[in-house]
Amino acid sequence: MSNSPYNPYETAQAQFDKVASQLGLDEATRELLRQPMREYHFLIPVQMDDGSYKVFKGYRIQHNDARGPAKGGIRFHPQETEDTIRALSMWMTWKCSVVDIPLGGGKGGVICDPRTLSEREQEQVCRGYIRQLAKNMGPNLDVPAPDVMTNAKHMLWMLDEFETIHGGRYPGFITGKPVGMGGSLGRTEATGYGVIYVLREALKELEIDITKTTASFQGFGNVAQHAVRLYSQLGGKVIAISCWDNTDKKAYTFRRKNGMDIDELTGITDKFGTINKDKALELGYEVLSGDAWIEQDVDILVPAALENQITAENVNRISSQVKVIAEAANGPTTNDADKVINEKGIFVIPDFLANAGGVTCSYFEQVQCNTNYYWEKDEVLEKLDTKMTSAFKAVYELSKTQNLTMRDAAYVIAINRVAQAVKNRGWV
Ligand code: GLU
Repeated sequence: MSNSPYNPYETAQAQFDKVASQLGLDEATRELLRQPMREYHFLIPVQMDDGSYKVFKGYRIQHNDARGPAKGGIRFHPQETEDTIRALSMWMTWKCSVVDIPLGGGKGGVICDPRTLSEREQEQVCRGYIRQLAKNMGPNLDVPAPDVMTNAKHMLWMLDEFETIHGGRYPGFITGKPVGMGGSLGRTEATGYGVIYVLREALKELEIDITKTTASFQGFGNVAQHAVRLYSQLGGKVIAISCWDNTDKKAYTFRRKNGMDIDELTGITDKFGTINKDKALELGYEVLSGDAWIEQDVDILVPAALENQITAENVNRISSQVKVIAEAANGPTTNDADKVINEKGIFVIPDFLANAGGVTCSYFEQVQCNTNYYWEKDEVLEKLDTKMTSAFKAVYELSKTQNLTMRDAAYVIAINRVAQAVKNRGWV
């Protein structure tokens, strides 16, 4: 986000450049893959409830579509920046590639704060977004999905606008739709569950019994809530969770050393993932500073909020007890912090592998829409587990045989597939 000294696009490009050199990619392929192929920047005028007009800035950035239509979420955030979306679109390309689904990478965003917009105003932002892009997106071109502060309701408004403009039904245009309206069972859980499927596999490789582990989470939105639920079901103990409080304009960390109860917590959390401080205190949770999540004596850290959260400034506050970092957010670790984490010997499950469950289930949603046959939830989650587990295993094996970090191994697999696709198409 814009108030950080770290630029996620520079982070993403530096990560790419490092592996591109190791792979010996030719100049043209490098130039093609280290930046987005297409960008749309536009304005969305909206009449507000009080009759006044506001103009919001919108973006859609398609990094690469050699392996299939661009794919990726649309986020609503007041601090959104072009460079953040560029980075996120790039990470989407690698994400779809590492789990080997036939999709490219894209990302979108609107600079707005849905926490301060009425339902009608949010609907107008969604419809205005699609009106600007109706010719440049579509089931075979670019397929959006939910992301930070957008959800199934927003996706349905966007679909409805797209279908109104194009005069037909195109359920494959957008994913993360409500169940019953072309959405897939399990999609809401998918990103969080996917994080825990790969965490489970990592712990097996490290010969750590999950039931003896503790974890600290940053963020309590959709991804973190479902990750906490599955991790707890598998026997892990969450002792700390931090989240943003939009009234106080700062984050807090909630802690209970003998374990946190997911149902109790979701019962006192609003739809933006803010845990109610007063109710948490009443229930016996400690309320600590927002950054306390990173310095807990736990085995596992799960950054599940925004980018640039583990930095050179706070990386040395990570406890020596931490063995695994599962990056549920996109780009939570800056490159300087990543180096320190590697030196400490902490096992990192990199973001575009760890959080690929969301887009994998989006792909399943498209398949279901295209065949007009919807699967049972168990079937969706089973297929998701299979896909995430095999992607994890491939990355882990490569990291072992080539002596690479998990992040670099994931990049090697992802970049190779995309580089092959652009070559095979004759683009470079
Ligand atoms: N926004 C999610 C992500 O960053 C999901 C994208 C999708 O389903 O297309 O992976």
